Amino acid sequence: MPTVLLIEDDAESRRATAGLFAREDWKILEAGDGEAGIDLALEHRPELILCDLLMPRANGFQVCRNLRHSLQRTKIIIISGRDYGVDRTSAIEAGADEYLVKPILWEHLHEVIERVMPNGDKAAILTGPLPEFTPPSTRLKFWGVRGSIPVPGSSTVGYGGNTSCIEVRADGEIIILGAGSGMRSLGIALEDEFKANPIKLTILISHTHWDHIQGLPFFLPAYNSKNSLRLLGYEGAREGLATILANQMETSVFPVSLRDMPGTISIEELKEMDFSVGKVRIQTRFVNHPGICVGYRLSTSQGSIAYLPDNEPFEVLKVTQADREKSDLNKARAYAATARAGLVEFLSGVDILIIDAQYTDDEYLHKIGWGHGSLSSVVSLALDAGARKLFLFHHDPNRDDKGVDEMVESARMLVLESGKPMEVDAAREGSEVWLGAQRSR
Ligand SMILES: [Zn+2]
Ligand SMILES: [Zn+2]
Repeated sequence: MPTVLLIEDDAESRRATAGLFAREDWKILEAGDGEAGIDLALEHRPELILCDLLMPRANGFQVCRNLRHSLQRTKIIIISGRDYGVDRTSAIEAGADEYLVKPILWEHLHEVIERVMPNGDKAAILTGPLPEFTPPSTRLKFWGVRGSIPVPGSSTVGYGGNTSCIEVRADGEIIILGAGSGMRSLGIALEDEFKANPIKLTILISHTHWDHIQGLPFFLPAYNSKNSLRLLGYEGAREGLATILANQMETSVFPVSLRDMPGTISIEELKEMDFSVGKVRIQTRFVNHPGICVGYRLSTSQGSIAYLPDNEPFEVLKVTQADREKSDLNKARAYAATARAGLVEFLSGVDILIIDAQYTDDEYLHKIGWGHGSLSSVVSLALDAGARKLFLFHHDPNRDDKGVDEMVESARMLVLESGKPMEVDAAREGSEVWLGAQRSR
């Protein structure tokens, strides 16, 4: 029997709503103010929360913000006597799944519950079996490997022209790294594979630069109410994650708004740098790139994957700061060395390293401070970290297939000179890597 928590200071309307749920066989918990509601929610972890917007001791927005991180699977519906668009938007941004205007009629409420909890058996959403994948080992697939902007065409057909998107299947989870334009094809493939079955997946956003979020509006599973998408990322430099993702779907630039997508989409701003998605441990680290940008390290039962789509070598500080202020050269060097050592530790012993290698060393001399990697610095970082396999990633939009081949050749030469056994390849759209089976193609 699923549980609903009603948080509402008006006892009479709380009783009326409780009556509606009682008829439908729900277990009902009640709280008379926001604080009591938060406590009850954390204690009982209900499947559904109906929360009034304006209440003493924590309003509905605060309740959502307080609970969203701890109760990631609980659906929260905000109830309000007023129908201001801005309230609705704020509620969704605070972590609510829906916003309903009073009076509450069961007919309407039922429709909303079906939308946010699409599976007929409500309890199954929380306890149901995870999908089985074949092959059973950890698999990753590249759907977008390009940096900055999609560049389709005959000169990029070999490595692919779509921007960042990688699908990881590990320990029963589908984890998507990056929401670049490659996400469109991934969405079509997922719908094709799952058909009428619900898809549950987690999307990790490194940062909100356009090439890392532009696939989301075209992601087919978001348009089907059977599916649940969790988007995780950090707050942007200027605005919150939810606001930025919603802004790229504003009416002036896109016909469907984020909140009108029928799939259940939760956007969660991360605070922790070490957390889990199911059994997969996720560690994050801020990297050297304009704004707020992180790299992710995934530890699965069959090996680890690090994803640093945009990152500039810290060595750059030696040049730029030295040029600006010669007396601070030593300080700058010390900072760069510490930052690099931290990154080496973060990547230590990783099985698969996917990292920004946008420029050749020559190009980089003219692109210092642009926030992207150069070939030899990426190779030396990977070698120092003891990575097993390095994938050059975030290929420059101006680089044709032959140019990427040459980058791979140069990288392999550098590895050969080092005498270490690391494998190097360039990420290629459509290619897959299996960790458990130690097999790649
Ligand atoms: Zn990028
Ligand atoms: Zn970027």
